[in-house]
Amino acid sequence: MPEGLIVKAISGFYYVEHEGRVIQCKGRGVFRNRGISPLVGDLVTFHQEGDNDATITEVHDRKNELVRPPIANVDQSLLVFSIIEPDLSLHLLDRFLVIVESLGIEPIICLTKRDIAGEKQLAFADTAVSYYKKIGYDVLETHRDDSSLLASLQPYLSGKTSVLAGQSGVGKSTLLNTLLPELQLKTGEISEALGRGRHTTRHVELMKVAGGLVADTPGFSSLDFEHIEREELRNYFIEMDRLSSECKFRGCLHLKEPGCAVKQAVEEGEVLQQRYDNYLQFLQEITDRKPRYM
Ligand code: ZN
Repeated sequence: MPEGLIVKAISGFYYVEHEGRVIQCKGRGVFRNRGISPLVGDLVTFHQEGDNDATITEVHDRKNELVRPPIANVDQSLLVFSIIEPDLSLHLLDRFLVIVESLGIEPIICLTKRDIAGEKQLAFADTAVSYYKKIGYDVLETHRDDSSLLASLQPYLSGKTSVLAGQSGVGKSTLLNTLLPELQLKTGEISEALGRGRHTTRHVELMKVAGGLVADTPGFSSLDFEHIEREELRNYFIEMDRLSSECKFRGCLHLKEPGCAVKQAVEEGEVLQQRYDNYLQFLQEITDRKPRYM
């Protein structure tokens, strides 16, 4: 039976791309019984009876899934942050990085508004950029209205499913309009749509850009650590994760344990103090959260 990718879902219909064509499919009740609801981004098997009668018969295993926006199998996220207006927040950036790392999504950090930043903000951004690059992240920097952005993003988009995310007011709508000119969203429009309930019924669509797929949404809005356990958090700070094999104790939480390689690296300036502080703060947040009731 043919397989395809769900690129759009509207009022009970799924639009499945298969060999260059988009086929409108119905879902099958059987999914609901198993608690599975097909999502945009799902690879599915479908059964076609006539020209206008196709049904999804199987949803293939997912590598991950986002709740808002509802998308499955996201490969990477463009984390959009500005250097100024609003100022770059490493706390928020690390929060996004932890979330995407925990979902197995590859982050690409995009810093905007370089051209209008003052000396102080630039110096801060440059220090941050060199650190995040050093630990292995891709960082792209752009001016406010930069037409070269698409060109610099292109090699990253090819063959992947990408979702935008980031601080509000940083130019996500501008970036999305540059990537998807047919979308023509008004600047500001989608920042309002970000998890405010007003546009929650708006459907999500995967659009073709530069040989890849980009979701036409400002990105995920849930930034809590509900799904992350206390002992798990350290894995999502990638440079600390690499160092942890040198800690004296297996399972070191890098708090007050003796012989902790992470704490030593922080003291020597190898690990950015702010990253470590954010780790401690997130750990506290997870420790303090109310137990979940099933
Ligand atoms: Zn340690």
